[in-house]
Amino acid sequence: MTKIQQEIGKIIQELPPQTHLVAVSKFHSAESIQEAYDAGQRIFGESYVKELQQKHDVLPPDIEWHFIGHLQTNKVKYIAPYISLIHAVDTPKLLSEISKQGIKCNRKIPCLLELHVAKEETKYGFSPQECIDYLTSGTWKDLKGAEISGIMCMASNVDDKEQIAREFEEAYQFFQCVKDRFFQNNNSFCIRSWGMSDDYPIAIEHGSTFVRIGTRIFGQRKY
Ligand SMILES: *Cc1c(COP(=O)(O)O)cnc(C)c1O
Repeated sequence: MTKIQQEIGKIIQELPPQTHLVAVSKFHSAESIQEAYDAGQRIFGESYVKELQQKHDVLPPDIEWHFIGHLQTNKVKYIAPYISLIHAVDTPKLLSEISKQGIKCNRKIPCLLELHVAKEETKYGFSPQECIDYLTSGTWKDLKGAEISGIMCMASNVDDKEQIAREFEEAYQFFQCVKDRFFQNNNSFCIRSWGMSDDYPIAIEHGSTFVRIGTRIFGQRKY
């Protein structure tokens, strides 16, 4: 067993049944992804369209590719045919474009709305109020090529575990509120994407259903 395979095995053992692993492979080679694949991992997260395209072309077709980074509207068309989940939808305009491309590919692309909970100002995402306003507008219901399947967030990049816990809990409460108000009879709204290498144990305690883990599996990224 390789180091990558050992790390995946250890993480999987820590996950409760409702929580799934997205192995974040950005900046890591196709060979490293193949190692993880050979250990049974099927969901991989990438943040850059060009890099994802290259990997998608050479790696096994049953990989579920998740786009986890900031996605530019003009690049949606390249990944629309095959992307399994787009995690970080941060504007109504991006969701409209995803729907447009989804229709062209004859599919409804699952998407998560990115909720801004971190205290840092540089992070992308809807504020809770912006998100509620958008959902209240109802315009998303006309988007036939995209589906809102849940909420994604990133906690502040700090050591304070209590603060991280508060932010994940805020996201969890927000998810429940949105579920009750807008998706009560919609079973596909069920995904809570939070937790990375340094904070995923906290994310699990606050209801995460997808943890996105890179460094812990593949080691440091070389930019
Ligand atoms: C890179 C990245 C991750 C993985 O981060 P690690 O600290 O390497 O686990 C998770 N989520 C997003 C959105 C990322 O961009």
